[in-house]
Amino acid sequence: MDETDPNMLTVEQALERVLAACAPVAGSEALPITDALDRVLAGPVTARIDVPSSRNSAMDGYALAASDARAGTRLRVAGRSAAGHPWEGHLDPGECLRILTGAVVPESADTVIMQEQVRAEAGFVTLETNPGAGAHIRNPGEDTRAGTVILDRGRRLTAADIGLLASQGIGEVTVVRPPKVAFFTTGDELVPIGQPLGPGQIHDSNRYTLRALLSRYPVEFIDLGVIADTEGAVRSALTYAGETADLMLTTGGVSVGDADFVSRLLQSEGETDFWKVAMKPGRPLAFGRFGQAVFLGLPGNPVSVMATFSLFVRPALLRLCGTVPERPWTLRARLLQDLRKNPGRADFQRGILEQRDGEWTVRSTGGQGSHQLRSMSIANAYIVLPRESTGAAAGDEVEVIPFQSVF
Ligand code: AMP
Ligand code: MG
Repeated sequence: MDETDPNMLTVEQALERVLAACAPVAGSEALPITDALDRVLAGPVTARIDVPSSRNSAMDGYALAASDARAGTRLRVAGRSAAGHPWEGHLDPGECLRILTGAVVPESADTVIMQEQVRAEAGFVTLETNPGAGAHIRNPGEDTRAGTVILDRGRRLTAADIGLLASQGIGEVTVVRPPKVAFFTTGDELVPIGQPLGPGQIHDSNRYTLRALLSRYPVEFIDLGVIADTEGAVRSALTYAGETADLMLTTGGVSVGDADFVSRLLQSEGETDFWKVAMKPGRPLAFGRFGQAVFLGLPGNPVSVMATFSLFVRPALLRLCGTVPERPWTLRARLLQDLRKNPGRADFQRGILEQRDGEWTVRSTGGQGSHQLRSMSIANAYIVLPRESTGAAAGDEVEVIPFQSVF
């Protein structure tokens, strides 16, 4: 393929087309919040109650009226309020209340002084500072007000969200059903784990990578195994997946060689949208539809599988799951060595990102062949070199995408 082919799409253009083709799947289910981490809300959630529900203390100390809050004042300790054990009495002028963090502040008090700022003797305390009026008081609804929408439809639930729901007494949520993702790998050279390799054979690693990558997402996956390089075998796998899945992923067989039945059948019996993206690694990539499924045909080389997964499959999955994928987070890092590249394709080189003397630095993992899966295993970030660049020099600032934001 020609590096300067003007018909090649940029990564951004290709992603736009992928996202345009992926609509959130229909259907939802109710789940206990204990099973809802990473799932996507099918509708908004509204707060039922004020949190906190009552005025309470942010500190261990003494509750008092602001009119008594002067350094040097000596107050009688009239009672005690602990979390879960409110005090039922009323404070008169000259009185205060022993109070612990999270305990209800009575109506007759509006200020809390920290215990470190009083001198305590039997039944009395003397204030050593002047706490500002209203100090260390948490007001009802300061966290969440009843009636406000606390989580929107399309929200992918985080640990904080699960806690927030629990704080509202909400134990169950309605989430989008998991999209069905069917996948298979292709290649007559592929041997399953557990069988010895014959001449020219390799173990099928892509399918295991895909399973591992997919297991991070709220999807139901259908592993169709290794498919031989014959038209009939590829057709029946495509047909089955096209009838069953919302999204279909394949690896290998998308070039223009005579054993590349995936791209050929997609063109003749499905719909092909694009299959040239100006990126490295990751070409060729086929995209379209087969049957009812959105189709992404990933390259065969293991590094290309991961690169195209992170840049295209992940956003497609999140879209199908009913949420809006964030753009990958990038940061600028100081490059520790020279890197060469040819113009024409954006490079996603595998890098090791680390802080040195308070600065982010990045260096290459070494060999960048798309068959060198160890480069992915060692790396923790992509070094992004733009399409037209010819490389970067040691000391340059380069754009880096941490893997944590794309896998
Ligand atoms: P292909 O696109 O089918 O020509 O494959 C490109 C390269 O990736 C070849 O060297 C294949 O042997 C290799 N490859 C294809 N599928 C897999 C797989 N499932 N696991 C590991 N390597 C693969
Ligand atoms: Mg092949």
